Amino acid sequence: MSLPLPATAAGPHHVRRDCRACGGGRLTQFVDLGPQPLANSLPRSPAEFATELFFPMGVYLCEDCGLVQLVDVIDPELLFRDYVYVTGTSDTIAAHNVGYARTVVQLLALTGKDLVVEVASNDGSLLSRFQTHGVRTLGVEPARNIAAIARAAGIETISEFFNEAAGPAIRASHGPAKVVIGNNVLAHVDEPVGFLRGAAALLEEDGLVITEVPYLREFVDRLEYDTVYHEHLCYFSVSALMRLAERAGLSIIRVDHVPVHGGSIRMYAAKRARHPQHAPAVQALAAAELADGLTTLSRFQRFATDVSRQREALRALLTRLKAEGRTVAGYGAPAKGNTQLNYCGITTDLMAWTVDKSPHKVGRYIPGTHQPILPAAELLARQPDYTVILAWNFAEEIMRQQAEYHARGGKFILPLPAPVIC
Ligand code: ZN
Repeated sequence: MSLPLPATAAGPHHVRRDCRACGGGRLTQFVDLGPQPLANSLPRSPAEFATELFFPMGVYLCEDCGLVQLVDVIDPELLFRDYVYVTGTSDTIAAHNVGYARTVVQLLALTGKDLVVEVASNDGSLLSRFQTHGVRTLGVEPARNIAAIARAAGIETISEFFNEAAGPAIRASHGPAKVVIGNNVLAHVDEPVGFLRGAAALLEEDGLVITEVPYLREFVDRLEYDTVYHEHLCYFSVSALMRLAERAGLSIIRVDHVPVHGGSIRMYAAKRARHPQHAPAVQALAAAELADGLTTLSRFQRFATDVSRQREALRALLTRLKAEGRTVAGYGAPAKGNTQLNYCGITTDLMAWTVDKSPHKVGRYIPGTHQPILPAAELLARQPDYTVILAWNFAEEIMRQQAEYHARGGKFILPLPAPVIC
């Protein structure tokens, strides 16, 4: 089938050939989601549509270590210079942060003498929860506009990219850290081994590196292909995390399953000098992944077939609704929504507009497919017949908040893993 996708433009990116976890490894593409625009570069006006950049988006498996990854790497300055995801806007994440800080403070018995550094600290939402426990905090956030928001809220924040060299530099300026946190950032860096080495260098001898990443098992089981975007270079299994940690001089001592971003794992890693082995429970998780085929190409080829079927089903549904004269809108303008809309070729003829709660997104447009992003209140004001929940990881929260829309006869479409109307 032919889809109304724009042509790929050349741009500031390079293609990586070696596996990010094991260094060697055979990288085999199992699904092609591109070309895709930059998911977090939301046009401010239709005048910007013509100059949008599109890049390839093939997803690859390392057949040696099982790391799923992209090989097309976009210049971080281009990706993150005007980043619009602000964590503080979600109730779900706010509740998650309260529990996160409590867990870590209790685990390490943190006191006012201890320093917690968070890399990719965004607007400081999580660090502010550590501050309520009296712990010292430092944020590291490359997006200058978002770092400024954190500083205004009283969270000391350095605006730079974190890498192998940054760990010792921050240790020199602020002292060693008891905890280095990096949530949804390890997957975003082109050199995750260097990133973890930098984090380890910043740690006190008995400190922990704690990082949350979306879990590959959920990605595969729930067909979460829309969580692929250019910022998101790796899709981690526990097996691949173990390889990474070892190369950075760390052992994984604990893994928690956490229900954010479609199912994530939180890895707790300690210096190998103190913990020479990964914990038995962690090794058991890796063994289960192997037994379930989560690191083998055939499983990912089946995933690719299912992804293609979902595209056909969603397009068929929206095309039928259009033929019946129904109105269709979206809810949310998350990066994942952009991937799905562009991969499925859902332009404004099939979904006219979307809404979002973030004031940073309202007034802008979805990259590539160009739906205008309206305030969330417009859903009730306009009452479309159907609303596709693009931010499906917040589906429960959204449907609760929009109960009135549903009560008036509006219907929600949950698009993944296969479109469902509710
Ligand atoms: Zn590998």
